[in-house]
This record gives sequence, structure tokens and C-alpha cells, in this order.
Amino acid sequence: KPQIVWLRRDLRLTDQRAFTAAAEAGPVIPVYVLDDAAAKNHKYGGASRWYLHQSLEALERDLARHHSKLILRRGDAVEELCKLAEETGAQAVHALRHYEPWWRRAQGALKDRLDLKLYDGNYLLPPGAVTTGSGEPYKIYTPFMKASLAAIDGFDILPEPALSAPETWPASDSLSDWNLLPTKPDWAGGLREEWQAGTSAAMERFDSFLDVVSNYDEDRNLPAIDGSSKLSPHLHFGEVSPAMLWEAMSRYTSEGARVYRSELLWRDYAQNVICQFPDYPVKSYRDGYDDGLWRNPNRGHVIASELEAWQQGRTGYPIVDAGMRQLWHSGWMHNRVRMIAASFLVKHLLIDWREGERWFWDTLVDADYASNGVNWQWVSGTGVDSNMFVRIMAPLSQSEKFDAAGYIRQWVPELAHLSDREIHDPADDKRGDYPAKIIGHKEARERALSAYREAKD
Ligand code: FAD
Repeated sequence: KPQIVWLRRDLRLTDQRAFTAAAEAGPVIPVYVLDDAAAKNHKYGGASRWYLHQSLEALERDLARHHSKLILRRGDAVEELCKLAEETGAQAVHALRHYEPWWRRAQGALKDRLDLKLYDGNYLLPPGAVTTGSGEPYKIYTPFMKASLAAIDGFDILPEPALSAPETWPASDSLSDWNLLPTKPDWAGGLREEWQAGTSAAMERFDSFLDVVSNYDEDRNLPAIDGSSKLSPHLHFGEVSPAMLWEAMSRYTSEGARVYRSELLWRDYAQNVICQFPDYPVKSYRDGYDDGLWRNPNRGHVIASELEAWQQGRTGYPIVDAGMRQLWHSGWMHNRVRMIAASFLVKHLLIDWREGERWFWDTLVDADYASNGVNWQWVSGTGVDSNMFVRIMAPLSQSEKFDAAGYIRQWVPELAHLSDREIHDPADDKRGDYPAKIIGHKEARERALSAYREAKD
């Protein structure tokens, strides 16, 4: 009897347990259901939709090598899968487990109606697999990372399974009818330059990264250097499993390789937080912030033009603007600069971190419910970690410290003529068309600290 493989953020054939198990049980019908309504405010944003289109095309090519197809359906995932099971007489639905709240609900509902078989595999360890001495899930990264490292004992990577086709293929939408790509204006030129979706493209990128991984521990902090793996959209859409990267890395013993593994565990950690606090990306974990601290249009603050200046890279802080323009152009931003730009929004502009989360959600090709929410609350000091709000990052010294001159030249070309020394904080008469600072650093710092004291009282 046919077996349905329900695909979500696991768009690969290698090391994909749902495919392997389904292929062992019978002919395989792979299906992707575009279910925007279930995710509500977290339905995929523009950049992710663009990437999803490419990723589904890449999977279709990989399936074609096996004389198989990808069936596309749109609507409520539970209803669509039940319909498909009835149409095809499928015996079971196989899927990797996902933890976004809407997917947990859908998995629960589907279990009541069909034979749903769920497998692990999009994280190094399933969330909740490591616990504290008292059996609680971890809230803080470092002990979580140490316990996970102790628990990981290498991985067996599953090869692509041989797929057999059903006697007849059910009807499928056509991908182009889903309109995942922008039409007018076509803003995706920068994305096309930067990204090639799919498992083979991801592994090629990873292979070139392995040539420089020994410097990763230092270079990952330098925005002017291509020192990180840029695997994040590939990991988000599950074109590669983290276990595949972990295993390929196991031949490398440098400090860079060690740090890379611990960064992969950040991804597991974020999911571990979401499993405990499903609303984390939409609500501060600590009380008192969401109502009191941020400047708020309901209390007469005008923030719209400042939010727009931040989104468009016009704050007058070159490192922040370089990052925001890189994001808009290519759908990705360097991690160090994500921290600086996020901190600037929250502390210098005193704007609710959730505005930043929304913007990143719409513009990142790696936008991820867990990683985005957890990192925004981490930067804002509103989350499960010790309170960091009063530690206010100085963007100009960060820019110097991490040697961002070349990066600023690339993304803020109107400052390209300035020297390495001047470019981080150009004098007023050297700015030309580049905007003046939206707020001074000292003034912003004092405003943030006093707003914080007031909100606490
Ligand atoms: P590498 O340095 O090569 O790291 C390898 C992989 O480890 C990454 O691809 C990613 O999957 C994982 N990883 C590394 N750092 C982190 C981290 N801090 N948190 C979670 N996973 C991590 N990452 C996302 O994947 N999606 C997001 O929506 C996202 N939003 C962010 C928002 C803010 C405000 C900040 C500060 C960080 C955010 N990150 C997010 C984390 C991080 O910036 C990116 O994962 C990283 O820049 C991706 O580039 P890379 O693949 O070259 O990373």
C-alpha cells in the first residue's frame, strides 16, 4: 500500500528517516502542503517564500532521479493529508517531528485521524533529550550545550533510500501557481546572486567551508571575512541534517571545528526553549517589559520613522546600516552584526524587540521561529538568561573591534572613500549624503537606562 511522506522543513532525501521508513514499507508519495493559515502571524515571509520555492524545485529534481515526484497541495495540512490518504488509499503518513506550536497542533490532530508515524532527525538531539539533575529541561545555553555534547555519540547517516512509485500519481498543484516568488517589483536579485537551494548546493558550500573551518573560532566574528558556513537557510529548510554536518566535521580537530559544533547546538538549544515556552517569539519571558519599557505609539511616542530608518539602513551608524542593507539585499546578515543591529533597535531606539523579530521574519532566508525568537530575547535581555538589558552594546566600538571597515565599504558605498579609521564613525563634514546619527550613543544609553529604572519601579 502507498505510504505518504509529509514534508515540511526537512526537504532532503539523505538522512531523512521518514523517507527511509516509508520506502521500506511500500511505494512512496512525497507531499508538501502549503498551510499559511496554521502559522498565522508566522506564515513564511517574503524572503523565506522565495527560498522555499527554490528548495522545493531542488527536491523535485532529486526526486526525479528516483523516478519519483513531489505532490503539492495548499490549505489546511490536516485536511489535505486526510483527503490525499483517502484518494490514494495510503496506509500511513510518515513525517519528521516539528516543534513550532502550529505543527505540534497539526501532528496531534492528524494522529487522531490517520496512522501518523513521526521520526526525529532535524536536530542533533530531540528537544527534551537532555535534562538537568532534577529531570527538568535546560533553560540556559551553556549547561545545555555541555550536557548535549556529553550525550552525543556520533551519528549513523542514512543514505538516500530507493523509492518506488505508486501505480498512479495523485493530482498536484503547480509550484508556479503558488506565487512564492516576487513579481513586481522583483526584489529578489540579491537573493538569486547569493543562494542556491538544495542538498547538493548545501554540501558544496559546506565543503568549501571545511577549507577554512580551522579559523572559524576567530573569523566568525569578523563581518568583513566570509568566515562562517552560511548553512542557515539550508538547515532551516532541512536540506541537510545537522547530523550530516556533525559527522563530516568529525575528522577535524581544530578549535574552529569544536566551536562550529557548539554553534550548531545553539540551534538545538533554541528549539529546546520553544518546546518549553511556545509563545517565546511573541512575548517577553520576563514580566514588565512588554507593557512598560518600550517607546509606544499608544503612549504618544512616534516611532514609525525611526523603525523605518532602521529597516532601510539609514540610522547614521555605519555598522548597523551595513547589516540592515545586507539583510535587505541578500536575505542574510552576519551573526555579529545581527547582534549589533538588534541591540541598536531595542536599546538605542527603545523599540519593542518584537518589531525587529517581525522584520527579520520577513526578510531573512533563514527565518526560524525558534532561532529568531530566542536570539531576539537574548539580545534584549527579556528572556530566560540573566537580565542583560542594562548591558548596552556600543555599536561604534564594536565596529572597530571586529574590524568592519571592509564590510561597511561593501554595503554602505557612499562611505567607501573614508579611511579604515574614519569609516566607523564619520565626522559630520565627511558624511556627504549619508544620514546624521539618529540619536547620539551617550544620550541613547542614558535614555535606555532611565526607562529601564522607571519600568522596574
Ligand atoms: P555559522 O556560524 O556557520 O553556524 C552554523 C549553524 O549553527 C548556523 O547555520 C545555524 O543553524 C546555527 N547557529 C549558529 N549560531 C546560532 C544562534 N545564535 N542561534 C541559533 N542557531 C545558530 N539563525 C537562524 O537560523 N534563523 C534566524 O531566524 C535567526 N535569527 C537571529 C536573530 C538575531 C537577532 C540574532 C542575533 C541571531 C539570529 N540567528 C538566526 C542566529 C545566527 O545569526 C545565524 O544562525 C547565523 O548567522 C547563520 O549564519 P551561518 O550559517 O554562517 O552560521
